[in-house]
Amino acid sequence: KVLCATGIVAGLLAFFWKDPFNPESLSAARVLLTGASAGIGEQMAYHYARFGAEIVLTARREAVLQKVRTSSYEGRHKRFGLLPKQQQQISCQRGGLDYLVLNHIGVTRFQMWAGDVEYTHWLMQVNFFSYVALATAALPTLEKNKGSLVVVSSLTGKIPTPFTTSYSATKFALDGFFSSLRHELIMQKKNVSITLCILGLIDTDTALENTRGKVHLTASPAPEAALAIILGAATRVQEVFYPWWLHHVCCLWVLFPNDRDQVLQSYYNYSSP
Ligand code: NDP
Repeated sequence: KVLCATGIVAGLLAFFWKDPFNPESLSAARVLLTGASAGIGEQMAYHYARFGAEIVLTARREAVLQKVRTSSYEGRHKRFGLLPKQQQQISCQRGGLDYLVLNHIGVTRFQMWAGDVEYTHWLMQVNFFSYVALATAALPTLEKNKGSLVVVSSLTGKIPTPFTTSYSATKFALDGFFSSLRHELIMQKKNVSITLCILGLIDTDTALENTRGKVHLTASPAPEAALAIILGAATRVQEVFYPWWLHHVCCLWVLFPNDRDQVLQSYYNYSSP
């Protein structure tokens, strides 16, 4: 309890005394963003473009990604008054990386555990091992540029929830790996920030489809979630909670170990067959 109270005070202090966000810091920042063809990743692409960042977007569906790319350039063009072609040339001229934003996920099943171990292996590969591999490859460049690693996680990576066995495992793994790595970077005086983003239910097409009829929760807007991630990363905070009150949910989870499971399960719709 003392630890949690200390956490709350530290959170409040960090909230009020954190570095203010300077939009100019993102102008011409070099960003590699994964899972950018849809959902929160797509919204992050639009925000980064409006801030004037140079972005490399990744996903599997090339045609969908092309559309996001075109809309991103249009957003940037409106703000900076440059022709899309000029923008593309600028992006190609500079190498290096300032932000690696790891956001993609494999297909998520929102259902009771049915024993598919192979699926869990595969999801670990997509949601966890690929993050480790990409971060490892990017670290030397990020270190040179005092850059940032941004890892998009979930409340279910802090608090285990029903219907998310494999997904939750991948998100807990991210917290373990990247929070440990953050310690090591600080101990080695390497100036790379790691921002872990803990999101609640967000109104992306896939999340709404997965959870329809199964939860009593209201989804928050994806553009706001995307902006919260970008601001948190730009101000180099260790953890972003969106919506903000999820931070308190995590503290309450630790404070009330006896009644918490029943309360949590009441938000999930399940009638035994
Ligand atoms: P979406 O399903 O909307 O988008 C997922 C993105 O990942 C797409 O761009 C998709 O593009 C890409 N992707 C899918 N499969 C693969 C694959 N096998 N390899 C590489 N890329 C792939 O996800 P959300 O926007 O809802 O979620 C984004 C992040 O936010 C995730 O990390 C998620 O865990 C987290 N989050 C989301 C919540 C929500 O309620 N939406 C809640 C909590 C956390 P393509 O298919 O073209 O490859």
